[in-house]
Amino acid sequence: MTRDPRFDVLFEPVPIGPVVTKNRFYQVPHCTGMGYRRPQSVAALRGVKAEGGWGTVCTEYCSIHPSSDDEPFPSASLWDDGDVSALGLTAEAIHEHGALAGVELWHGGPGSSNFYSRETPLGPMGGPAGHHNQPVQTKAMDKQDIRNLKRWHLEAAVRAQRAGFDIIYVYAAHWYLLNHFLRPSNVRSDEYGGSVENRARLLKELIIETKEAVGDQCAVAVRLPVSTNGPDGNQNTEDPRAMFEFLGELPDLWDVTVQDYSMEMGTSRFIPEASLVDAMSWVKTVTTKPVVSVGRFTSPDTMLRMVKDGIVDLVGAARPSIADPFIPKKIDDGREDEIRECIGCNICYTGDQTGTPIRCTQNPSIGEEYRKGWHPESIAPKASDATVLVVGAGPSGLEAAVALGKRGYNVTIAEARRTLGGRAVTEAALPGLRQWARVAEWRENQISKLPNVEFYLESVVDKEQVLEFAPDKVVIATGASWRRDGVGRWHEKPIEGWDRPSVRSADDVLAGDLLEGPVVVYDDDHYYLGGVVAEKLRADGLDVTLVTPESEVSTWSRHTEDQHRIQERVMRAGIRVETAKSIKRIEDGSVEIECIYTEEVTTIAVKTVVMVTSRTPNDELFFDLEGEVDVERIGDCLAPGTIATAVYSGHKYARLFDGQEMVPVPFLRER
Ligand code: ADP
Ligand code: SF4
Repeated sequence: MTRDPRFDVLFEPVPIGPVVTKNRFYQVPHCTGMGYRRPQSVAALRGVKAEGGWGTVCTEYCSIHPSSDDEPFPSASLWDDGDVSALGLTAEAIHEHGALAGVELWHGGPGSSNFYSRETPLGPMGGPAGHHNQPVQTKAMDKQDIRNLKRWHLEAAVRAQRAGFDIIYVYAAHWYLLNHFLRPSNVRSDEYGGSVENRARLLKELIIETKEAVGDQCAVAVRLPVSTNGPDGNQNTEDPRAMFEFLGELPDLWDVTVQDYSMEMGTSRFIPEASLVDAMSWVKTVTTKPVVSVGRFTSPDTMLRMVKDGIVDLVGAARPSIADPFIPKKIDDGREDEIRECIGCNICYTGDQTGTPIRCTQNPSIGEEYRKGWHPESIAPKASDATVLVVGAGPSGLEAAVALGKRGYNVTIAEARRTLGGRAVTEAALPGLRQWARVAEWRENQISKLPNVEFYLESVVDKEQVLEFAPDKVVIATGASWRRDGVGRWHEKPIEGWDRPSVRSADDVLAGDLLEGPVVVYDDDHYYLGGVVAEKLRADGLDVTLVTPESEVSTWSRHTEDQHRIQERVMRAGIRVETAKSIKRIEDGSVEIECIYTEEVTTIAVKTVVMVTSRTPNDELFFDLEGEVDVERIGDCLAPGTIATAVYSGHKYARLFDGQEMVPVPFLRER
């Protein structure tokens, strides 16, 4: 197939200072949770993006000096010549496919704790340093520190050029050093604080000096927020506009964003596609330099609109390129319908937040390119004529069927319900989670193109049917059920009174059962579902109290950057929140809740208790069949987890089918 001429404009080359990017698809810097610790893994990941057609591919944030150390979050680094060869692997992998390589030089300042290097954290002024309330403060930088910083930045820029990079960033966004200089809170009394010109002076000097050092061959990009946090919700652009007037034509490329990271990196539950447009639509009116920005663009039409409306010159993407590294290639080939759209869940960000390699709900191969040799668009052909029956068409069953189908196996899927998609589709009906359904939609579309994969809906499969059908292999992907007895992270044993009819599970809410209020939602799971279930029941008009042994609502969602938005929504909806409380006993018409610290007990009058605590695998069929047929289980049926874990599990099953896993360690390590 060929490209729809409508999209030709996306494939125009764009000059960026002394270099030219071959098209308008630009993978902005994004974390991988691998950084300097896993140079080959990162290089392979970025190489696949370049292969997928992105005209420019950037690194993650790249530390310029040991005084900018973000451990346990792994950044890239260019501290010395050893780093030049390690990071050079990434530039090389990107160049192999004709893309430009960008590197985001970074000094963390008050945003890094330096727990690895033990260097003193630096800031424009003395103040708290590091993430998550670390008991650390910065030294207020004196003139010598500023001179040192400029030298470190320059040396890193020269190393970056030697490592092969074409675009070198001066990074002034987010909560890092240069951004702290730009903020109105920088009231230093010297020429680097106070007025807009003074606050932007260090950035200006760094841009000029970086250009002088490497600007004949490399483009110099600046990442800057173009709105600041304000009570009006990020539309506060006065200060950034003044900065732009001061700096407008200096860099070769503007990579613009907003100050509120939970908006820039917002989950689809709260932030729709292209949501930065209002905050940044003025930028191209004040600079002639090319502009790139993001907005979780997954639709080629939205990308096109961004360019045609003069909002950006380059379509920036981090998450869309993680969910589908081949977006540009698919548009180029006229296969837009095959784009595996990001669902906006931010599982990818949890890798960096937990100091572990990147994972993605939609793309099970991300992060596995080097260590397992997985490629997002190719998979080994079948090694036998084995037939496969997949029982259950949730994320794991669907992914297994698609990947096996692409290998050429004959696959039959049997699904009990009327729709494909399992939990991805049921949960998508809850407030804000509509895009979860994309997990099923992409796979359904793939199946429609695979003549060797067929599915049967409304087909509850039991042992006899499997034996009668007699496939060569059976894979059980029947998911898991939410427990009703309250066993979870806090309670190791069922809660007293759990078996009363007033006690329901999250599955009852997902099934659409009508509940009687007042309701207590007991969240001992701590990811998104407890908060969403409470929100749904409140929207149904019920009086809802959310009880959790944790100290905040949906606490694991801190890693997906939307915990505070969830808590705000829950509180504004009028849901009462009882934190640091567990359920002690359930009676008819009431529950006793107990403070986890003092054991003080209070009683709440309720008609219904909804348990969101933990899940039990639906593995009866597996154990019925074990020993009688060649059977394996995958996804939540094997061990309940995230949708990302289930997709990965199905994919891994298909990759290893008819083959053998590496032993004793099933992947390559970097040492
Ligand atoms: P996972 O996340 O592991 O893919 P899900 O719970 O999302 O699991 O999906 C499991 C799917 O399996 C559901 O759609 C459910 O209807 C289906 N299912 C469960 N038991 C059977 C069965 N015995 N026969 C057919 N389908 C089943
Ligand atoms: Fe998108 Fe979720 Fe994948 Fe991140 S993990 S790229 S948000 S689908």
